[in-house]
Amino acid sequence: MTPPPPVDLRSDTLTRPTPAMRHAMAEAAVGDDVFGEDPTVNALQERVAALFGHEAALFVPSGTMANQIALQTWCRHGDDVVAGQGAHVWFYEAGAAAALAGVQVSLVGDGLLTPEDLLAAIKPDNHQTAPTTLAWVENTHNRSGGRILPLATLQRLHQTTQAHGLRLHMDGARLFNAIVATQTDPAAWGASVDALSICLSKGLGCPVGSVLVGSRAWIWRAHRARKMLGGAMRQAGILAAAGLYALEHHVERLAEDHRRARAFASEAAHLPAVTLRLEDVQTNIVAFGIDPARMSADDFVARAAQRGLLGYAIAPTRVRLVFHLDIDDDSLQRAVDITRELLA
Ligand SMILES: *Cc1c(COP(=O)(O)O)cnc(C)c1O
Repeated sequence: MTPPPPVDLRSDTLTRPTPAMRHAMAEAAVGDDVFGEDPTVNALQERVAALFGHEAALFVPSGTMANQIALQTWCRHGDDVVAGQGAHVWFYEAGAAAALAGVQVSLVGDGLLTPEDLLAAIKPDNHQTAPTTLAWVENTHNRSGGRILPLATLQRLHQTTQAHGLRLHMDGARLFNAIVATQTDPAAWGASVDALSICLSKGLGCPVGSVLVGSRAWIWRAHRARKMLGGAMRQAGILAAAGLYALEHHVERLAEDHRRARAFASEAAHLPAVTLRLEDVQTNIVAFGIDPARMSADDFVARAAQRGLLGYAIAPTRVRLVFHLDIDDDSLQRAVDITRELLA
């Protein structure tokens, strides 16, 4: 008998398009988006802009490109950007913030930026410092395990940036997870930032794509920056169709990923070798510490893989598991059983 395929919790990017999504892609009306003539791309952009209550949106190939476009569009070379500790834009983008946008990123706090941390990090206006022009928030916060930056905090951050002449940008790769978990209106989040991005290829299950959202004037500049980075695409409606499908069918179901993440966490939290605070498991990611006297995170990942559970070591003593569209309750149970077998 062939063993079942492994339970793959390395990331929520591992999802494969469903048959219905593939059907929507195959049927999509397309045109040349460099000419602005792809009706499906245009529909996606209008849909996402309207959802967040902004004037315009831009479909881009990846979250990294969305972030780099945002930095280039908000900042000049030599500017200072204040972001929460561990921000994707600083850690996971191959140094592009420095190499391409030419900005310095000042990291503060524990990941979820607060107005107090931001205020303390704004550089004084003198000849020795880089001008702080942009505050950067990530929601949910990836490296700290999918924690949510609360809407109320974002609103206070926005007041702070407005009072100090800064811009506020939100890397919302997993913003829909935060929206579903808090049952809030996307427009309320949109109203609390100058611009934001969302990702279609993580929890929403699309093969490709992110969307930037902002004012018409800002999106115009982002459009040029996308061209500069080589991100202009032609009959991209095939990809945008997946996005439209996902917005219709894959947003509310994120609650299932959250339920499974919590169920896993409440089992794992009992294991003596595991350090895990249940209040930190707020969306679809479970990040937990392993007692190094028991085994390293790399050892856990290797041994779990032999038993059919794939995870990701995010630090020498820390593992991350991400729940997504392709994980059902049977997979959840196998993940719990394997983790228990290794760490009980
Ligand atoms: C995944 C991710 C990105 C980048 O997305 P890619 O499509 O992989 O380039 C950006 N920000 C956050 C918070 C992410 O989790």
